[in-house]
Amino acid sequence: KLVIDNVSKNFIDPQGKQLSVLENVSLTVHSEEFVALVGPSGCGKSTLLNLTAGLLSPSDGSIYFTDLTEGHTPAMGIVFQETGLFPWRSVYENIAFGLEATGVPKTAQKERIQHYINLVGLGGFEKAFPHQLSGGMRQRVGIARALVINPDLLLMDEPFSALDAQTRTIMQEELVTLWEKTRLSTLYVTHNIQEAVMLADRVVLLSRRPGKVSKILTIAIPRADREKTENTAQIAE
Ligand code: ATP
Ligand code: MG
Repeated sequence: KLVIDNVSKNFIDPQGKQLSVLENVSLTVHSEEFVALVGPSGCGKSTLLNLTAGLLSPSDGSIYFTDLTEGHTPAMGIVFQETGLFPWRSVYENIAFGLEATGVPKTAQKERIQHYINLVGLGGFEKAFPHQLSGGMRQRVGIARALVINPDLLLMDEPFSALDAQTRTIMQEELVTLWEKTRLSTLYVTHNIQEAVMLADRVVLLSRRPGKVSKILTIAIPRADREKTENTAQIAE
């Protein structure tokens, strides 16, 4: 499981003043758990995700994994809002990127890559370039690229927010199906509470009032009820 333990993060704002974005935030993501992190714009969701990914380091507190085999460096698959695909690389080559630096033999790599291409429904598009794909398809490439490294944790930062409503719904449904197959520990950032309720086992709200300590409020959602939830009224209770 992932443990975010009493993490604070300060930035230096453009005027050179200290800006406290996260104060003493603690959160645990258990194995095989899908946690959605919800909160208003600017509350520090992406910051928390980037800290978890190791792209930033905390000003205070620590982030670590428990119950991993000793000596195993946790692998993290990351899907950003803008997929960050390489425009000059094909679908296949984009997904292969994460595996290149690993010790996985070439033939095994091929099999893995093809497996994930098929899993996200992009069979036949291996040679296509990102500009030849729709937004939803590009996000699928991003998801396959995150999954192909067999991560211990999947981090997603508003992956579907750039998509139109209809495509977003399709992608959400696909993600649920995919998640049921992989059951990867997932931390999913969104500002859409409806999406959070539909996807997650647990919804975590990050609130922030300037100068006040960030609070994390947690709502557990029984998995069986998840797809039946049609509005957010249940959360408010
Ligand atoms: P959104 O929903 O709009 O994506 P967010 O919750 O992801 O918002 P963050 O991107 O984590 O918010 O930013 C939180 C705050 O930290 C903002 O006030 C932002 O200006 C500030 N911030 C983020 N990164 C930096 C940085 N590298 N340097 C200075 N300030 C930063
Ligand atoms: Mg953000």
